[in-house]
Amino acid sequence: MLSRARKCSFCGSEIPVGSGLMYVKRDGTILWFCSRKCRVSMLEFHRDPRKLKWTEYHGKRERGS
Ligand SMILES: [Zn+2]
Repeated sequence: MLSRARKCSFCGSEIPVGSGLMYVKRDGTILWFCSRKCRVSMLEFHRDPRKLKWTEYHGKRERGS
């Protein structure tokens, strides 16, 4: 199992070990954010990463599996 690098829960970029912000939701879900920008975008503004140019998910469409 790879545990060296984490991906930002919001923008999808890799977070180097020892950095990043961890956030635990009430239901126990652990979220990782590479920066405060990503943290507030998700937790305070509830933004959709697919609509933001600077995320890896920008322009990607949800596909039914
Ligand atoms: Zn991020």
